[in-house]
Amino acid sequence: MSINNTSSNSGFVSLVGAGPGDPDLLTVKGLRVIQAADVVVYDRLVSEDILALADSSAEMIYVGKQLDFHCVPQDQINQILVQKAQEGKRVVRLKGGDSFIFGRGGEELEELAKFGIKYEVVPGITAAAGATAYAGIPLTHRDHAQSVQFITGHVQKDGREIEWASLAQSNNSLVFYMGLKQSGHICDKLITHGLSAQTPCAIIENGTRPEQRVLNGTLETLPELAKGAVSPALIVIGSVASLGERLGWFHQ
Ligand code: SAH
Repeated sequence: MSINNTSSNSGFVSLVGAGPGDPDLLTVKGLRVIQAADVVVYDRLVSEDILALADSSAEMIYVGKQLDFHCVPQDQINQILVQKAQEGKRVVRLKGGDSFIFGRGGEELEELAKFGIKYEVVPGITAAAGATAYAGIPLTHRDHAQSVQFITGHVQKDGREIEWASLAQSNNSLVFYMGLKQSGHICDKLITHGLSAQTPCAIIENGTRPEQRVLNGTLETLPELAKGAVSPALIVIGSVASLGERLGWFHQ
């Protein structure tokens, strides 16, 4: 695969967030660009119903996790986007949720910018917004939380630790992405930094999908709760997390 690093012809890349699962949560703009795409480069968490919106002549390229759980390396994905755009194609780069929330959208745009390729970003509903909406958990609420933070449960690229002291505030809602395996660590760190062991927690698995399931507990019971949960799942920690037991509305 050869790539020129000169400004290219009329190729164009739309970085589209597909939303968290329910295909009806795709934006109208997302729908339009998918329908007009020559090439769709997509990830694992994009639903079949959304992929089916592409024209039957569109080239569909899967770059998500394979059966052996290895991803197509990021530089190879970047290379595909650049090459297809340089061929003059309308490329849709389709990701679960929102591309700029733990979606490496920024890294892909940096690569496109480097090659002078034109692009746009079509936002999507991120899992934290979609899954909590369907679980009846308002992330802010005047009686419970004045702020919300989205945190990755993944160990950082350079091994840097999360600033736990700033997270462990009782009037704050925390949403951990990719946190199931790290739930023991998350629980220990937050309790050590002063958050009550009785703080409500919810794990939302398969948010907004027909198989959505919400598990409720407290910070102390979170690691036990996580053992019984499947991916994709979000961990919500904070006083708001218990509201879903009363306000949840999405039951199959
Ligand atoms: N860009 C995506 C996040 C990608 S990281 C977004 O904005 O939503 C992948 C993580 O997102 C998963 O490990 C899980 O923690 C979360 N996630 C994605 N879809 C989800 C869903 N339907 N329900 C619960 N969590 C989800």
